[in-house]
Amino acid sequence: MTEPGTPDSGATDEFCTEWPEGYRAAACFTFDLDAEAVALVNDPASADRMSVMSHQSYGPLTGVPRLLRLLDSHGIKATFFVPGFTAHRYPDVIRAIAGAGHEVAHHGYLHEPLTGADEAAETEYLERGLAALTEVTGVRPVGYRAPMWELNYRSPGLLRDRGFLYDSSLMDADLPYELAAGSGSIVEIPIYWGLDDWEQYCYVPGLYETGVIQSPARAREMWSLELAAMRAEGGCFVLTSHPFLSGRPARAAALGEIMAEAVGAGDVWVTTMAEVAAHTRRQRLRPRAPRRIPPGSTSSSPSK
Ligand code: ZN
Repeated sequence: MTEPGTPDSGATDEFCTEWPEGYRAAACFTFDLDAEAVALVNDPASADRMSVMSHQSYGPLTGVPRLLRLLDSHGIKATFFVPGFTAHRYPDVIRAIAGAGHEVAHHGYLHEPLTGADEAAETEYLERGLAALTEVTGVRPVGYRAPMWELNYRSPGLLRDRGFLYDSSLMDADLPYELAAGSGSIVEIPIYWGLDDWEQYCYVPGLYETGVIQSPARAREMWSLELAAMRAEGGCFVLTSHPFLSGRPARAAALGEIMAEAVGAGDVWVTTMAEVAAHTRRQRLRPRAPRRIPPGSTSSSPSK
């Protein structure tokens, strides 16, 4: 079988526009289980801030159990992107997620930003995260999402070399596609900031002060509009929630209303990212090459 992305694949389509029979669109509920890692990598001294650590640990300790109940009540299988550090610190929580049939995917080790990381450092983050998740769940993850949603141009190749099926960190499309990576490709399932709960809810003094804390009614309205529009266009709705944020009662309730809308539509394929990626791979799409701005091309010419 010819691997997608090889020159003789003969593929012409760039995007996954066809969904399994009976479905006109897809929807994935994803959770970035950052917990303490996102605070520690930003400021190691936050380990000594008891209240900050408690805010972050709310995710695995209280948010995840509530979200697992919520997902179960709607019959939805979700994808959890988990830093290796979180998996080591809360192995029982991660095993509960996997045991309920949800996908556990890679999200760095200590949620290290890739911006400015050299290849050796990036490789170490990948390997440590892979080892942690595989050790805790017994399953090697097939999906990856970059911490802070920042990929390097080398990252797709590193992921492909390690057998990853898909990435979910880019924002240039509404539909999954094959992203050229080295001599082949990986599936890309795009995301965007408007479908992330961080911008609506995250407020940690001294660490993350992104704005006022919004009402879950506002978040629900935004996400419901996106879901409806994606459904009309046959796209792939990917919502990202953080259990330390959306695991809170009123926010989880609002999230549950979005889940009910997606499932209740009847023609939206609500599934995991791994399932969407496997489906996309079967479409044998023509890989899209990253449209990189040539290094050095933006420097101004020397003054005369
Ligand atoms: Zn994250």
